[in-house]
Amino acid sequence: MLKDWLFDIKFLFFPDYCLGCNDLLIKEEKKICIACRHDLPIVDLSLNNSDFLNLVFYGRLSLQESASLFYFRKSGKVQNIVHNLKYHGREDVGKLLADWFGYELLEEKRFQTIDAIVPVPLHKKKLRQRGYNQLTTFGLRLAEIYQKPYVEDVLIRKYANTSQTFKDAFSRWMNVKEIFDVQNIEKLAHKHVLLIDDVVTTGATLEACALSLQKIPGVKISILTMAKAE
Ligand SMILES: [Zn+2]
Repeated sequence: MLKDWLFDIKFLFFPDYCLGCNDLLIKEEKKICIACRHDLPIVDLSLNNSDFLNLVFYGRLSLQESASLFYFRKSGKVQNIVHNLKYHGREDVGKLLADWFGYELLEEKRFQTIDAIVPVPLHKKKLRQRGYNQLTTFGLRLAEIYQKPYVEDVLIRKYANTSQTFKDAFSRWMNVKEIFDVQNIEKLAHKHVLLIDDVVTTGATLEACALSLQKIPGVKISILTMAKAE
């Protein structure tokens, strides 16, 4: 009772807005409103190898499995949620998404052999600017659900790729390919790695990461992204 009352007071002075549609949340709603939760373009996690990600990487990479949580539409609610996470300091979005989908993922047979969660790394400079890697809260919570380690010190980013937008697709690919490397490889040798990212569009970054990870003996790679471009 007292708790309810305190909540009302807090709500009066610090109203909470939906991360998807920016509408005022009602008391029972947490971070994303009920309408958005029903409305968001969720991807069926049981969709398997005919999935978009595998098509993107077809022939270029040997992937175990891939999945995304949402379809990403420009100026849509998913974009709003991801922007809140990446640019507005809402690190809590990561945990929210992992809480929402982590157990479902764990139930999926094809994702049950995961040994470690590995994020696409940020360059040190970018990390300083943003103050956090937007994948950390998501990855840490997934690791907790899986009861497996969250590994940040094997796949590393050697260069920032800020000049990317000015280059054509081919040189961009050449550029992105050189960006990542691996160290402390014994940590992931013969392990099934779940590589995570926020939004996949061309897949170039994830592919470059996976190619670097493939230098590790016996490693298997699956990919999970929060969203994927339609
Ligand atoms: Zn909403």
